[in-house]
Amino acid sequence: MFDLVVIGGGITGAGIALDAASRGMKVALLEKDDYASGTSSKSTKLIHGGLRYLKQLEIGLVREVGRERAIVHELAPHLVTSEKMLLPLIEGGTFGELATSMGLWVYDLLAGVEGSDRRMMLSREETLSKEPLLRSDGLKGGGYYAEYRTDDARLTIENLKTAVDKFGATTLNYCQVDDFIYDDEQIAGVKATDKLKGEKLTVRCRFVVSATGPWVDDLRKIDQSLKGKRLFLSKGVHIVVPHQRFPLRQAVYFDIPDGRMIFAIPRQRIVYIGTTDTPYKGDRNNIPVWEEEVVYLLEATNNMFPGIQLTIEDVESSWAGLRPLIHEEGKSASEMSRRDEIFESKTGLISIAGGKLTGYRKMAEKVIDLVAKKYRGQYGESFGKNKTTDIPLSGGFFEDAAAVEQYVAQIEKRIRSYGLNAYRAQYLVSNYGKQTELILDKFQSLNDEAEIALIRAEAWFTVFYESASTLLDFFNRRSGRLFFDLPSIRETKDAVLNDMTDYLEWDATRRELEEQQLDQAILQASVFEKSPDPSVLPKATT
Ligand code: FAD
Repeated sequence: MFDLVVIGGGITGAGIALDAASRGMKVALLEKDDYASGTSSKSTKLIHGGLRYLKQLEIGLVREVGRERAIVHELAPHLVTSEKMLLPLIEGGTFGELATSMGLWVYDLLAGVEGSDRRMMLSREETLSKEPLLRSDGLKGGGYYAEYRTDDARLTIENLKTAVDKFGATTLNYCQVDDFIYDDEQIAGVKATDKLKGEKLTVRCRFVVSATGPWVDDLRKIDQSLKGKRLFLSKGVHIVVPHQRFPLRQAVYFDIPDGRMIFAIPRQRIVYIGTTDTPYKGDRNNIPVWEEEVVYLLEATNNMFPGIQLTIEDVESSWAGLRPLIHEEGKSASEMSRRDEIFESKTGLISIAGGKLTGYRKMAEKVIDLVAKKYRGQYGESFGKNKTTDIPLSGGFFEDAAAVEQYVAQIEKRIRSYGLNAYRAQYLVSNYGKQTELILDKFQSLNDEAEIALIRAEAWFTVFYESASTLLDFFNRRSGRLFFDLPSIRETKDAVLNDMTDYLEWDATRRELEEQQLDQAILQASVFEKSPDPSVLPKATT
């Protein structure tokens, strides 16, 4: 019997599992596909400081996310890294000079931003010297402030691994919850299907939390408790172009002609650009990126960086995700609050909806405080207070950001002697942190050309330490290569396919299916069709 079953292995469920297990609860987490395969691998990948909340005057929230950002950076300094953001101030733009200066100042104060992370206001010349690709006409200056960048899928996986390895949680991917078990009309467990083995299982427990993001209402419906507030799904698209083609020096948050703002973020060998914000009612398991959405982002980018003139042929990869927002009557997708909310049904189902990647740790704390209170009331047993502010995530045992840099330099020296380029050191450390040691040990035991040996070592690590169960688990959510290094997949996929076939004992049919699914995902990320329903798309703007 488990104390708690968590449904959903995105960042919200992962954070909840770690919080509960670290307080001493016996926890099982079930995820219907791969961990982080929902929204938590498809965000802008920023641990925000909450600037937009300041604009909406949600002061408490600014303070909370500012504090959260600092905590999450400390828990995994290799994975949550400082990324200076440039906010160009343009004639007639969203932010005026004085308002931005005041806003960023208040924001630093509220969010407790310190030292070199404090905001700076830049003159027109200083702004252009930070980012020479910016358009110069109409440019008045810039705001320069700190954001933090992460890899959402890896953050999810490291939370889960910490819950399992350090605190004995049980987690299963490819295990879909189909129904609930009730005792005296109170939830007492779940019925699930192991999708890889085709087996049914039941898991009994005292409490169930549904952290199913865009699927929260489905579970409430199964529980017959879908009443009152509902989810509203908003789609966000990102596109990826090679850094060589868009040699952006630094992350920029900029105005686009339809009045919205989007990000362009350099990340090792690529730059990613996003996002859109439109209502979505289609298939939640397979979210297409339409040609019109790509063109919208390209035109917006070309407008702010007129010297580069990107075309659709430059787009190397892309992704689309769904924001699980809580519906508010009369508001557009981009106006709706990103706040989280907990729903409790009469049967005892606890659902958490809304929220942000940035706030995952705090959301988990709120949910487990509630579960612990109910536990005490019903069973008389107490669990301690939240401990996750002091639990470093796996791979993240670094003193601070400077220690991460030193480690990267050390790895760079080491891998150069193996014939790998310096870029791989950054890639390895930002993905795997200190776990890079295990990967390099394996790498040294393989007799292949360096890039092939490296990917084989990574695949080995993710199968045996991170439950990678399909080719896409590896190329997408463990290594990030589907988005950030798509060309490398074409050169390395056979080696990974051979090894995974071996490790996971795939027969010929499964092997073929795996290859097809990877090819399909590459196609979907890089080739774009026109939408059959242009009415729900963002409008191209120039
Ligand atoms: P999900 O990640 O979707 O996880 C829910 C999981 O539940 C899924 O993996 C799903 O497969 C599983 N599930 C569903 N039904 C079942 C079932 N029956 N049985 C078992 N499992 C089930 N936030 C930020 O802080 N910073 C950003 O930069 C940012 N950018 C964003 C950009 C975009 C385009 C989008 C869409 C969101 C962005 N967000 C950002 C928000 C953030 O990504 C989400 O709030 C967060 O990822 C939601 O995580 P989740 O775990 O609640 O949902």
